[in-house]
Amino acid sequence: MKVALAGNPNCGKTTLFNKLTGSNQKVGNYPGVTVEKKEGFMQCGTARVQVADLPGIYSLSCASLEERIARQHILNEDFRWVINLLDSTNLERNLYLTVQLLEMELPVVLALNMTDELSAAGLTINYRMMEEILGLPVIPISAKNGTGVADLQAAITQPSHKAKLTIEYGSHISEAVEALVPLLESHGLPSDVFAHAPSRWYALKLLENDKEIRAAFERHLGTDATLFTKVAEAQAQIESVYHDSPQVVIAEKRYGFISGLYRQSVEKVVENRVSATEKIDNIFLNRLLGLPIFLGMMYLVFQFTFTLSEKPMEWIEIFFGWLGEAAGSVLPEDSLVSSLIIDGIIGGVGGVVVFLPNVIFLFLALAILESTGYMARAAFLMDRTMHLCGLHGKSFIPMISGFGCSVPAIMATRTLERERDRIVTMMVIPFMSCGARLPIYVLIIPAFFPSHLHANVLFSIYIIGILLAVLGAWVLRRTLFRGESSEFLMELPPYRIPTLHSIVLYTTERAWLYLRKAGTIILAISIILWFLSVFPHDHATDEYVEQEVALIESDVTLSEEVKEESIAQLEQLRAERLLEYSLLGKLGHGIAPIMAPLGFDWKLSTAFIGAFAAKEVFVAQLGIIFSLGEADEASTPLRDKLAENYSPLIGYCIMLFALISSPCMATFAVVKRESNSWKWPIFQLVVMTVFAWIITFIVYQVGSLIV
Ligand code: GDP
Ligand code: MG
Repeated sequence: MKVALAGNPNCGKTTLFNKLTGSNQKVGNYPGVTVEKKEGFMQCGTARVQVADLPGIYSLSCASLEERIARQHILNEDFRWVINLLDSTNLERNLYLTVQLLEMELPVVLALNMTDELSAAGLTINYRMMEEILGLPVIPISAKNGTGVADLQAAITQPSHKAKLTIEYGSHISEAVEALVPLLESHGLPSDVFAHAPSRWYALKLLENDKEIRAAFERHLGTDATLFTKVAEAQAQIESVYHDSPQVVIAEKRYGFISGLYRQSVEKVVENRVSATEKIDNIFLNRLLGLPIFLGMMYLVFQFTFTLSEKPMEWIEIFFGWLGEAAGSVLPEDSLVSSLIIDGIIGGVGGVVVFLPNVIFLFLALAILESTGYMARAAFLMDRTMHLCGLHGKSFIPMISGFGCSVPAIMATRTLERERDRIVTMMVIPFMSCGARLPIYVLIIPAFFPSHLHANVLFSIYIIGILLAVLGAWVLRRTLFRGESSEFLMELPPYRIPTLHSIVLYTTERAWLYLRKAGTIILAISIILWFLSVFPHDHATDEYVEQEVALIESDVTLSEEVKEESIAQLEQLRAERLLEYSLLGKLGHGIAPIMAPLGFDWKLSTAFIGAFAAKEVFVAQLGIIFSLGEADEASTPLRDKLAENYSPLIGYCIMLFALISSPCMATFAVVKRESNSWKWPIFQLVVMTVFAWIITFIVYQVGSLIV
């Protein structure tokens, strides 16, 4: 038995979904597209019910990909019930979707959420009256507290019945619909598109000029069928009467129905009180204070992310140090197997897992900003700024998600309605410094800068990324993507206290994705890179070093101390030469001349080869290059070695290059999939890498003159 969960954004769908299914859920994508698809199971008495969480939508037109997907899913799957979740403190707005669901003659049960907030909002709702008018079950719930959820589950186990609502569209539209219905039925409906839609609904959609439906009929009947002439005639007639397009008139009639329903079933106890949300927004959206508060908020997020993750990171370092030692004591000494496991696998994977606390705290902060409602304000505040560089306020959320990981951020561009806005946003997202680049900064910054500067240096890198994204979008909009920017329409949901459950689920989901990357892609790449760094083996160097060591040891004129020191130097030389002789060293050497003007030697060049695969591999890679077979190599000694070998200027250049240069392989792949062409990911790769080289070149050369 299947049920679907449909509702506006921010009406509490995710909270209810989590309450119903607990951790018994699966997150994926709709086939062929990358809009998130969530499914879970719940137990209702003896029945096991599958729950599908549809994308949050305001309407069932085909304006956005989300709407098209939700519509297709509802109409093509056989759902026992469609649970329409509404924010009962904002019913007039939420009912617009309800009306459209009812017109599709779906088995709908209405769940009125947020009822715990009704009294504070000064509202009382007559649920029985609503049931009577709409002819379907209406159940008050609070997804947050869990009240009414059992009633909802009980309602779902009842046999479903189709809702039927006839809205008074006025004689002109009704007549047009009545005239179209027999015509549609005689032709047969294009049921390959929507299996369960009634013909009245198709008629309305045709009058509304719904592109998707029209295309379906054109495929079905050919473009010059009489149906289309009839539709055009009806549209012209409606326009001549109302002096407005049928689309607008139909929407107005729906709102008229809603307003009547609202007046009959909702009572406003208190008029015109200033809500808490308005009070808060007077400050957060203030002309003068809004932006500084927003920037301060972002700054706090970064401080929070770093201060809190320091300790757990130490523990993880200690754990991997211990693991390496334990493995070293079990495995045969100086063998290839132990090198593979200790340097390649434990070193590589450990170097990535160590940054898990950072990822967790960042996503925790983002989850809180998102679910309290502040993120929508951030988008609102940024809209004017975003328009300056030709982007939409809505682009802001995907871009800020880019701080976590470019891959989901690029997927999030699907909320943008225009292809052009989407591609521009996708192109600049990798400039937003992602979580995988963080390990590089966290390694480099303490190695070269005094502790009171850490947060500031880090902040500067993030700001540079943001400025480049803005600049990039501005240039793209003025060259490849000219044209008007689309108008801003974004809802500001009321501020709400989020539930711990939802935040924890969200954060653990992201943390798990990160760990999975560490366990799969990073593991594989670590092994490949280890292999490249070990083969072919330079036996001549071995022989030479062993001869020298034997000579030193047999030299009676040297003190023990001098002997030890010379032998250590020889070992260092051996390790370096072996790496240079390996495939990886040769590759690094190959690109070193290109990288030299940026201050990078062949070792850094070698590590950047790894960063092409995935940014955090850079750290693992440096670990392998500098660890030279020591088992307990965590990042602190690596930092010391970096500080010995390079200047702070080079340190900064490493971060800059890591920030700007080509996006990682996963990003490349997702851009390919999202843009549905090879052109954009290749464009992005080439432009970003060339750009990174130029900027780092300037910084290094100018910096060398000053410092
Ligand atoms: P979605 O966008 O529809 O998935 O909405 P969410 O589940 O993310 O909820 C949006 C916000 O509303 C979150 O801060 C939730 O904690 C909060 N919320 C959800 N259900 C309720 C409820 O029944 N009462 C109250 N007061 N808040 C709720
Ligand atoms: Mg949600």
